[in-house]
Amino acid sequence: MVFFALLVGAELDGLTNLQPRGGCDDPSYPYYFKLRCESCGETSAKTTCVSLDEVVQLPTGKGTANLLQKCKLCSREGSVVVIPGQGTPLTAEQSQKGEMTCLMVFECRGYEPIEFAFGNGWKAESHACYGFIGVLIISLFFKVHGTPFDIDLSEGEFDEYDEKGECPVALSKLQSTFKVVKKQGFHGKTRYV
Ligand SMILES: [Zn+2]
Repeated sequence: MVFFALLVGAELDGLTNLQPRGGCDDPSYPYYFKLRCESCGETSAKTTCVSLDEVVQLPTGKGTANLLQKCKLCSREGSVVVIPGQGTPLTAEQSQKGEMTCLMVFECRGYEPIEFAFGNGWKAESHACYGFIGVLIISLFFKVHGTPFDIDLSEGEFDEYDEKGECPVALSKLQSTFKVVKKQGFHGKTRYV
């Protein structure tokens, strides 16, 4: 089995904390991607949907997975397990530096995940319309938090006007990749790096 981290990046304009609507560990958020068979190299024609709350029993009787799929070409069966607790939202700071964030980790047997597809069901909040210091002062004195936005990323872009902050917000240039990571024990915690 191999662990894959889903890395996501985007150009955020006046927005921060891009993540699935229920948070990075949203149990019902459907992750859409394709699977490439490790034995024959065939890529699944259809996009696969995996979420934390979809659980199936492994045929061996030992343990569970979040997806079981048979390769159409060589009939080998593979599985995907979603590993929560590893993801963090994409912040404005990361976006400015051109960095990506890890949203989720997948443990894959027999398959390699490829071509992640952004769908509906995302959220972000407005950020830094008054500059960083301004936001800090405003949050300290008025306890104003960013305006939340429900975002549909199916089209790959998002444009809106923040009425409260009186500035336009936008999201573009979505990118994503699956990176092979290793499981590590770190101060009693499990990390994937
Ligand atoms: Zn195959």
